[in-house]
Amino acid sequence: MSDSIRVTIFGSAAGFPTAARPNTTAVGVWVGEALYLLDAGEGVAGQFARRGISPEALRAIFISHMHADHTGGLPVLMQWLQLNKRKRPLDVCLPSEGMAGLQSVLSMHYLLPEWLEFDLELMAVEEGSGYEAEGVSVEAIPSRHLEGFLERLREAGDSRPGECFSYAVKAGGKRVMFTSDLAHAGEVPERVGGADLAIVELAHFEPEELGEALAGVSLPRLVVTHLIHTLEPTEDEIPARIKGAGYGGEVLVAHDGDEFSV
Ligand SMILES: [Zn+2]
Repeated sequence: MSDSIRVTIFGSAAGFPTAARPNTTAVGVWVGEALYLLDAGEGVAGQFARRGISPEALRAIFISHMHADHTGGLPVLMQWLQLNKRKRPLDVCLPSEGMAGLQSVLSMHYLLPEWLEFDLELMAVEEGSGYEAEGVSVEAIPSRHLEGFLERLREAGDSRPGECFSYAVKAGGKRVMFTSDLAHAGEVPERVGGADLAIVELAHFEPEELGEALAGVSLPRLVVTHLIHTLEPTEDEIPARIKGAGYGGEVLVAHDGDEFSV
């Protein structure tokens, strides 16, 4: 098996799908023929089908947090795997606060674990928790994205901790960072420094804030994704806005279906 790494952006929209970006957040990291899926926004199963991806290619899914634009594609993806008679076991790693809810969502969709032809293992992600398989490691780094929701959650009588994780995928001496959602651009540098490619969200801060935060950070290539819909009309200006604020590497703006080799 080749250990070349490729990245496929299955979905590049944030919570507002648009005509140009109909699919919400889902990023595939290929290590040779093995596919690791980071978030599973709506439309991901259709994206797999469009690309002729084998249902057996998928090794594990990592969910950053439980917002619908990161999880909405999971039930259809599970149904697609089932109807395509997948046999290989599948790990789904997600914040512990989402475990019970996901189990009940899958059951509600008649995707009972004992009815699937493959072993589905839901695994709770914790700070610093690592996933290792077939020479690939995936590290979870907590982000503060959901902290701003905690007060309203408590008022609603909900005691969830508000977990959200970025994921670093390492294989063959390369490192790919997927920030998923953050609280502010200040969270970016510690995650992406030293990575070969970083896939960074652009829904919760301005391009200039990202460029400023990345000034002097060692990162050759940055892909911005999870684009807030209001940026779309002027998206051609995003690379210059980021680089003009201090970032020295290459900037690419993700679209659904884009592929990058690392
Ligand atoms: Zn989001």
